Amino acid sequence: MNDISEKLFGKTKDIVYHAEGGYIPDVSFLKCSLEGKQSVAHIFCVGCGTYLEANKKQAESLAKLAGTEVPENFDEYYFEVAGCEVCDGDRDIVALKKK
Ligand SMILES: [Zn+2]
Repeated sequence: MNDISEKLFGKTKDIVYHAEGGYIPDVSFLKCSLEGKQSVAHIFCVGCGTYLEANKKQAESLAKLAGTEVPENFDEYYFEVAGCEVCDGDRDIVALKKK
């Protein structure tokens, strides 16, 4: 885990799920409006199938991990991560995907 993902997800050892991987997001869910007031983007964890939301700061960090620019808006995009706060997948593997 690198610095960025550590800040994003913390160093918690309370892993709930073993990341099996291979989960595929339900696109209709990714197109739903975000629930968090500060949220700007959907995140889907392919490690455990969990849906998460990113605020602006997290979106910037995730874009950095994905090696890409932050899109002007996330109507068309979401982040896919290999691991998240509730599973033991590799949190450094991030991709910006089209919905
Ligand atoms: Zn996960």
